[in-house]
Amino acid sequence: APAPPPAQHLFSDPAEIEALRGTLLAWYDKGKRDLPWRTLAATETDADRRAYAVWVSEVMLQQTQVATVIDYYNRWMQKWPTLQALAQASLEEVNELWAGLGYYSRGKRLQEAARKVVSELAGQMPRTAEDLQKLLPGVGRYTAGAIASISYGQATGVVDGNVIRVLCRLRCIGADASSPAVIDRLWDMANSLVDRSRPGDFNQALMELGATVCVPKAPLCGECPVKQHCRAWRRKLFGKPAPVPDVEDCGVGGCPLCPPATEPWDSSLGVTNFPRKAAKKQPRAARTATCVLERRGCHGAPEYLIVQRPSSGLLAGLWEFPSLPLAQGLQEEKQREVLADHLRAWTGRPVAAGGLRFIGEVVHIFSHIHQTYVVYSLTLAGDVTLDPALSPSRWVTEEEFHASAVSTAMKKV
Ligand code: SF4
Repeated sequence: APAPPPAQHLFSDPAEIEALRGTLLAWYDKGKRDLPWRTLAATETDADRRAYAVWVSEVMLQQTQVATVIDYYNRWMQKWPTLQALAQASLEEVNELWAGLGYYSRGKRLQEAARKVVSELAGQMPRTAEDLQKLLPGVGRYTAGAIASISYGQATGVVDGNVIRVLCRLRCIGADASSPAVIDRLWDMANSLVDRSRPGDFNQALMELGATVCVPKAPLCGECPVKQHCRAWRRKLFGKPAPVPDVEDCGVGGCPLCPPATEPWDSSLGVTNFPRKAAKKQPRAARTATCVLERRGCHGAPEYLIVQRPSSGLLAGLWEFPSLPLAQGLQEEKQREVLADHLRAWTGRPVAAGGLRFIGEVVHIFSHIHQTYVVYSLTLAGDVTLDPALSPSRWVTEEEFHASAVSTAMKKV
C-alpha cells in the first residue's frame, strides 16, 4: 500500500473539518448563484427527476461555461423534461439542440444512457455513485458523485477542476495535479471532507468557491470564507510553509505532494503556485478543404449542400459543407483538384477545379486539433439531384442551415 501522505497536506483535525464545513455551507446559503438546475433540484420532490436535471446540467457543464449552458439547459428541459422523453428522442434532434455547445459525443452518450435506464433498468436511475458510474455509459466518477450527492443525498465527494484548485491551495499540494496519484489523494480528501447531512450542498459550495472566489488567475483571498483554513494563503502571508502543530514538515524533496524540487515556491505567484499542471500538449495542426456549394432553390432562393459526417469520431453525425482533409504541404492547384473530385462524387456531375472560388481560411480550435478550413465556393446551374445511395446529404436554405445539427466551426465557415 502507498505510504500515507505527509500530514501537512491533509485535513486531520476533526474540529477543523467541522468548522470548514459550517463556514462553507453558511457562505453558500447566503450568496449562491441562482441557476435553473439548482432551482429544480431544490424544488422537485421526485428524486429521479432531480437526478435527471442534475445529470443534464453536469454533462453540459463539462468543458462549457455556466453562462453558455443556461440557455441550452432550459431548451433541453423544455423539450425533454424527463428521462423517458429523452429516451424517445432521435439522435438528430439531440445533435440539433446540442449544436454550438461542442464536444458532441456528450449529448449522444447522455441519450444512450437515458435509453439504457428506460429499457434495461425499468426506468429507475441507479442511486449511488458506484452504481451510476458502473451502469450508465458516459457517466464518470465526477458526474456520478454529483448526481448521487445532490439528488440522492449520498455522502460522497466530487473532484472537478474547481475542486482540484481549491483543495490544492487549501493544503499546498504542488505536485502535478493531473497525475493519477494526486487525483486519488484529492478524491480521498473530498470524500472525507464532504458534509454528512448536506453532501450535495457542500459539494456545490466547494465548486462554487472555485468558480467565483478561488479562481485560477486572481483569486479573491481577501473575501474568501475559508482563508483561515488555507495553507497557501498563510504561506503567502508569512513567506514560508505554515507551521503545523505536531506534524513533521515535508522537508525538501521526496514528498509526493509538494512542488517538485526543480520548481520551488515562487513568491511572485502567491497562492497561484497551486495547483501545478504538467505542460499541456500542443494541439496537432490539420487542414481541411471545404466547399460551400450553392444552387437556386425552387423559389429562387439560394440553397446550400450539407452532408452528414460518419456516426463515430470527431463531430460524429453532424452536418457540414462537403469537406475533405488535406495532406500536408499540398499545393493550391492540387487542393482544388482533390476537392473538385470530392464534389463530383457528391453531385454526380463533373466539377471543374478552376471554377472553385477561393474565399478564405477559417481557423477553429478543437481541444486537441488546430483546424484550418480552406474555404471555397461554387454555384451550380440547373437542377442538381443528389444520389440517395451516398451518405445522407440535403439542400438547405440559410435559415435551415442554422437550425440543423451543424458545428460552430461550420457556422464560422
Ligand atoms: Fe483560494 Fe485564497 Fe481562499 Fe485559499 S484563501 S482557498 S487560495 S481564495
